Amino acid sequence: MFGKNPKRGIFKSDGTILQIEEIFPTLQGEGPHVGKPAIFIRLGGCNLACDFCDTEFESFKEVQLDEIIDEVTKLAKRKGRRVSNLVVITGGEPFRQPLEKLCDELVARDFLVQIETNGTIFRKINEKVEIICSPKNEGNGYGRLRDDLLKRVMALKFLISDSNKDYYDVPDVGQSKDIPVYVQPMDEYDEDKNRNNLEQAKKLALEKGYYLSLQTHKILGLR
Ligand code: SF4
Repeated sequence: MFGKNPKRGIFKSDGTILQIEEIFPTLQGEGPHVGKPAIFIRLGGCNLACDFCDTEFESFKEVQLDEIIDEVTKLAKRKGRRVSNLVVITGGEPFRQPLEKLCDELVARDFLVQIETNGTIFRKINEKVEIICSPKNEGNGYGRLRDDLLKRVMALKFLISDSNKDYYDVPDVGQSKDIPVYVQPMDEYDEDKNRNNLEQAKKLALEKGYYLSLQTHKILGLR
């Protein structure tokens, strides 16, 4: 959306209807489950408007929970056999929607569920759900993450840009040394900038012990 999206607040529903941008099968391209076949549920709308954001999430429709579950279950199978056990819920910002029931239904069907959040909103969800938090800096610094979210976060992922001072280094958002930290070069759609971003992320990983995360789905030509 490149900062052009409206900043949306909490979507009020009892969780039986959610705003869905798209549901599609792919390989998880980033983070701890990189390379795994996965079904992505992209929820519509975000409460932030980052100017580098290359994701479309404003063409969403309101979809019944049963339909979402049916679609995920169908897409997870090939020739009647389940080949994807990972469901990634992303956005936009997933936690602006009441996704508790969605998570419970997926966990009950033995899916491993991972949520990717910017860390500004949180809600209590099924204990088995994994949360990856990628904090964002909209020009006024990074906020400290709330304690209840930090306790649930399995990994933190920071975007790194060599030319943008807001994304040059990994900030302290309250992480302890027990939470793995990933550094991912920001895609700025500029070959020179991207090369420098990769170098800066590589340097941080080597010097400070972070994990380097590349957007392998883009390298592979996947969504
Ligand atoms: S928080 Fe994520 S989805 Fe929302 S605008 Fe920023 S980069 Fe895009």
